[in-house]
Amino acid sequence: MKILIVQLILCFTLISCASSKTIIDKPIVFDEARIQLTSEYMSERYGIVKEEPIINPKMIVIHWTAIPTLEGSFEAFEKSTLPNWRPDIKGVSGLNVSTHFLIDQDGKIYRLMPEHLMGRHVIGLNHTALGIENVGGTDETPLTDAQLESNIWLVKYLSDKYDIDYLIGHYEYTNFEDHPLWLEKDDGYRTQKTDPGSDFMQKIRKATKNLNFQPVPN
Ligand SMILES: [Zn+2]
Repeated sequence: MKILIVQLILCFTLISCASSKTIIDKPIVFDEARIQLTSEYMSERYGIVKEEPIINPKMIVIHWTAIPTLEGSFEAFEKSTLPNWRPDIKGVSGLNVSTHFLIDQDGKIYRLMPEHLMGRHVIGLNHTALGIENVGGTDETPLTDAQLESNIWLVKYLSDKYDIDYLIGHYEYTNFEDHPLWLEKDDGYRTQKTDPGSDFMQKIRKATKNLNFQPVPN
């Protein structure tokens, strides 16, 4: 009997090991310039003034990069300032886009920046949103089952760690325009998004149903 129990415990341990994943740190540049631009973005667009651009994570936003490779996707986020940005153009933030996590086509999970700092990946909600980007998403390089599995794992991991109320696809972000979490001051500043596709979101939602996220506003 004792042996059987030991075997059972071992078996469960092995199963949980097999299904657990690792997060690989692959940091983008987060130097003084980026921290300063992030703080400026936070105060100018959201009216939040903090010594450090720290987020209060209540939401996870899923994206696709529409770039077919890990390195190409990483490069889009790597530098502190937007490509072709000129500091003399007033009113337009030069802060480059960024995301906390990037998941490759093979399902490997990379952390690009500290989880507690603000990334620039979703208008109106960056101050409260953790971002997960997925490599690919075009017809030529659709998102994969390995990515789906890793997104589900990562959503669970982050929900264990933080008090997350909402899980959304980037294409759903404007549904929050009248929500208390929405802080963007410029009504004209919007972009049209389709990532990461409603099918992909539906699958993640189904697998994370027991986390009881709140419904996306209509
Ligand atoms: Zn996106």
